[in-house]
Amino acid sequence: MRRDHPSTDYHNRRVTVMGLGSFGGGVGAVKFLAARGARITVTDTRTPDQLAESLHALRGIPIEHWRLGEHITEDFITADFVVVNPAVTRDHPLLKSCRERDIPLTSEMNLFWQHNRGTVLAVTGSNGKSTTTALLHSILQQTGRRCWLGGNLGHSLLPAVEEIAPDDLVILELSSFQLADLEKLQVSPHVGIVTNFSPNHLDWHGTLDDYRASKETILRWQTPADIAVLNADDAEVSSWPTKGLKLLFGLNDHGQWGIRWNGTSAVWRTAGRALSFPLHTWLTLPGRHNLANALAASAAALAVGADVAAVQRGIETYQPLPHRLQLVGTAADRRFYNDSLATTPESTLVALDAFADPIILIAGGYDKQVDLSSMARGIASRTKAVALIGQTAPVLRAAIAAAPQSHTMISPHLPDFETAFAWAVSQSAAGDVILLSPGCASYDWFRHFADRGTRFEHLVHQWIAAPT
Ligand code: ADP
Repeated sequence: MRRDHPSTDYHNRRVTVMGLGSFGGGVGAVKFLAARGARITVTDTRTPDQLAESLHALRGIPIEHWRLGEHITEDFITADFVVVNPAVTRDHPLLKSCRERDIPLTSEMNLFWQHNRGTVLAVTGSNGKSTTTALLHSILQQTGRRCWLGGNLGHSLLPAVEEIAPDDLVILELSSFQLADLEKLQVSPHVGIVTNFSPNHLDWHGTLDDYRASKETILRWQTPADIAVLNADDAEVSSWPTKGLKLLFGLNDHGQWGIRWNGTSAVWRTAGRALSFPLHTWLTLPGRHNLANALAASAAALAVGADVAAVQRGIETYQPLPHRLQLVGTAADRRFYNDSLATTPESTLVALDAFADPIILIAGGYDKQVDLSSMARGIASRTKAVALIGQTAPVLRAAIAAAPQSHTMISPHLPDFETAFAWAVSQSAAGDVILLSPGCASYDWFRHFADRGTRFEHLVHQWIAAPT
């Protein structure tokens, strides 16, 4: 019979960690297993240079073999089990070789789940996962219960799993890859939150049905004692099945238990309880999408016993995640926002929708060959001026100029980011928003989106110190 997951006695067991990665999951798994006496092989197709940060984090940890820059079959077929990075597709030939030999495949998240005793609240969805997870964590921290934040956000909780007590709350962001693997354990969180659902990651999942089936794992194994917090404005998500109590959240009236926005307040309604509170006055994050994220987080928190005062304090003290429509500073009555994580046209459109004030946008970047015409129309109708950067600048320039009733001031050719920033500021007046929301990847001018966002912040701080 095939064993779908390894036993939990790791002493002297030969474990291969496939894909150390740079996001902390691989490092967490190695630390956890090394502390329990496993004989570890770490393999990653990336080179030591590319993995420098993760290698640094593992200094002093006993690791039997390193195999970087390549994978070889022997490391896999001689292992007692393999810990697979969530980004590896399931049809990888080396994973097939393991399955043929009944070698269990697991992941950092599955190992965590097998050992965790805390109560899990988990968030998934196509957009807004990190923000909703972080908001929920911020609120629950106000309840006096001990809270742990992890999954796709923050660092791996696995090395600390034994410190997590049954009364603690564990708040996880779960990707569809992690959920696909959790299905093997037939587990779902006590509270499962789904922000929304749209086609994504089809390169990994192959089909939309597979992507949906993975996401539905967050509800599939719930019992009547569990809770599902689902987006009422997303017809697909709101109808996903669960045995748990269904609470809906939405920006429109949905007439069911849960939370909704009535235009002036959040209204929370469950059996025998109804209350309303001015959620929007506590929330500093801009945009209706963030209001939806805050509604979802509030509903989940109220469902596990938080009171409205905790919701208020948690939302008021929330520290925005970097590079996601983050207010960097205000000076000379201009507000500067860093939305460098907006690497798709859709996310730039969401950002443009988030402001009522005139916007000076900085957009463009690496050319992923995606259709930028809807983004160009949005820019033409919503911005006062646009500074175009990177490879896609010429395409965007032509598309914005061709958009109907375009009154947007389009920048001349801008040779570098500093010039683009200076041009954007020169177009601004008191009351304007200066927004970096590129709608494109960053690899042409920057190392990655975080590098782009950090350089923007640096320029903003420089300008605030000495406005020109
Ligand atoms: P994720 O973790 O799912 O990638 P984030 O919370 O990190 O989501 O937000 C990333 C970007 O997705 C934001 O900058 C914004 O453009 C967009 N976004 C956030 N929340 C929503 C939402 N509820 N609906 C649609 N788009 C959203």
